[in-house]
Amino acid sequence: MSEPLKIPKATAKRLPLYYRFLQNLYRSGKQRVSSAELSEAVKVDSATIRRDFSYFGALGKKGYGYNVHYLLSFFRKTLNQDELTKVALIGVGNLGTALLKYNFTKNNNTKIVFAFDNNEEKIGTLVGDVPVFGMDELEEKLQEEGIQVAILTVPSGVAQMITDRLVKTNVKGIVNFTPARLTVPSSISIHHIDLAVELQSFVYFINHYAEDETIV
Ligand code: ATP
Repeated sequence: MSEPLKIPKATAKRLPLYYRFLQNLYRSGKQRVSSAELSEAVKVDSATIRRDFSYFGALGKKGYGYNVHYLLSFFRKTLNQDELTKVALIGVGNLGTALLKYNFTKNNNTKIVFAFDNNEEKIGTLVGDVPVFGMDELEEKLQEEGIQVAILTVPSGVAQMITDRLVKTNVKGIVNFTPARLTVPSSISIHHIDLAVELQSFVYFINHYAEDETIV
């Protein structure tokens, strides 16, 4: 594999957004796009888009814009879209079940292949085509498929204990949907998504900021 590109994190976060929009453009037969058009569609200002794209050496020409096919194949490679990233989910409760039933592969190349739970009634079932295993099989199954990303949708009280098991496997990243703040070695990345906190701060923004301001 070639050396990964070192681009700023903020730019990296916008790549999937660009990628999704470019896919739609490509499907509709469009061959080029201006930063102004992109800006309008993805709601990112065009100066930021031009700066982001300059990191990939994709310099749009004045009056011409960017070549859609070039950008798309570049993003596909950068986002590892040629390879399927297999993900495991732990905790098949309400949120876990919703995620298992959601078709991630429609827009990107990640797929939840295994789920785990400690509830005997859930073990051995299929939820949205994903098999649910008991926690005693966690390490073995993750190893078997070389899983590098795990999603945590367990109660917060058991999140750290499960994380301690995950860090001893090949898992490199954990998407933590629990409110627990997790302690992990520096080699593991955590992406924390607390839907309750997100909603609360969103409501605050709605009530305190001007109508035309974009909330990011
Ligand atoms: P439900 O209504 O199905 O219980 P919930 O989202 O309200 O869903 P939670 O108490 O948040 O339930 O638990 C989420 C899931 O995590 C449940 O399926 C539960 O069985 C599972 N779970 C709880 N403790 C553990 C554990 N130690 N290891 C693995 N899974 C666990």
